[in-house]
Amino acid sequence: MYDYLIVGAGLYGAVCAERLKAAGKNILVIDKRDHIAGNVYTENIEGINVHKYGAHIFHTNDKRVWEYITRFIEFNRFTNSPVANFKGELFSLPFNMYTFNKMWGVVTPEEAAKKIEEQRKEAGITEPKNLEEQAISLVGRDIYEKLIKGYTEKQWGRPCNELPAFIIKRLPVRLTFDNNYFNALYQGIPIGGYTKLVENMLQGIEVRLGVDYLKEKAELDKLAEKIIYTGPIDAYFDFSLGTLEYRSVRFENELLDMPNFQGNAAVNYTDSETPYTRIIEHKWFEFGKDAEGNDLPKTVISKEYSSEWKPGDEPYYPVNDDRNQALYAKYKELADKESKVIFGGRLGEYKYYDMDAVILSALVKSDTLE
Ligand code: UDP
Repeated sequence: MYDYLIVGAGLYGAVCAERLKAAGKNILVIDKRDHIAGNVYTENIEGINVHKYGAHIFHTNDKRVWEYITRFIEFNRFTNSPVANFKGELFSLPFNMYTFNKMWGVVTPEEAAKKIEEQRKEAGITEPKNLEEQAISLVGRDIYEKLIKGYTEKQWGRPCNELPAFIIKRLPVRLTFDNNYFNALYQGIPIGGYTKLVENMLQGIEVRLGVDYLKEKAELDKLAEKIIYTGPIDAYFDFSLGTLEYRSVRFENELLDMPNFQGNAAVNYTDSETPYTRIIEHKWFEFGKDAEGNDLPKTVISKEYSSEWKPGDEPYYPVNDDRNQALYAKYKELADKESKVIFGGRLGEYKYYDMDAVILSALVKSDTLE
């Protein structure tokens, strides 16, 4: 008999497992995949840690989270500075003075602010009601058209005026020459990969892989007093109230015989014609462009294709629009009645969580458990 059965060996599950074990609990972690680490899983290919379920760049302003996570592995000093490619024209991201200069030829912050204000006025937006209006009022119509509209509609498969405004607020806008994507004090990539990080967190904890909880629920439930479930909340209830929508992502990975494909970890293709949203070149997450390792003769790239989730696909992004939020609220009511089960993480809480927020939420939850 275990004190806790943890369903899912991703970040949420790993943090809970580690904390509860430290508190003296007897833990079993299961995952239906044949590997740990959930969607932060990395696989070493030719000396390069490939982010198999999409790029993960750790960033946080939370000292507790940073101090906690760095107990398990050392992080490098990677700074995310993606480049946007609009039909061969390159722009700096996030939106900053380099972007505004390239777009409009403006040189000072005052000129940039004036240009954005002009375009906002022209659009007549006072209170942004959706992603399109939010984007135009933040950066003006030109940037919306070239760097946001195509990318966002590819990523979400929905028109920008039907998407929630909060999605675009994730992106910083600044009137400085600063290409650092995240406004975060602490950032980096675990040296040796995320899989190693999660492996270290789960050290000494029993983990069974290739076990599908929902298929063997009755048997597995008998093994533990309590359950921490990090899978999709709607699947837990057998989709009885309907299906929550997710976006899924498909990756086309290529191992190339060249040392440098695109000179940057992430290049976003922001037009609507290119079928993929971005290309990730994994080596640049690990080796500074001027550091040892950048002379590896090979490189691994991943083209990222976004698609609507259907049963059997991997769910990636919850679609937090009104319809889905309302449905989630109903599932949450059911979940609250399951006294033995704690629902957590991106899929368990149907939330567009960053890694640091997942870790924090698992830490806070673990503090309350006994
Ligand atoms: N986005 C955009 N153009 C870009 C990059 C991002 O319009 O070049 C928008 C898009 O709507 C996306 C959101 O910003 O869904 C958040 O982007 P982020 O890079 O934070 O997404 P993630 O890395 O989580 O996929």
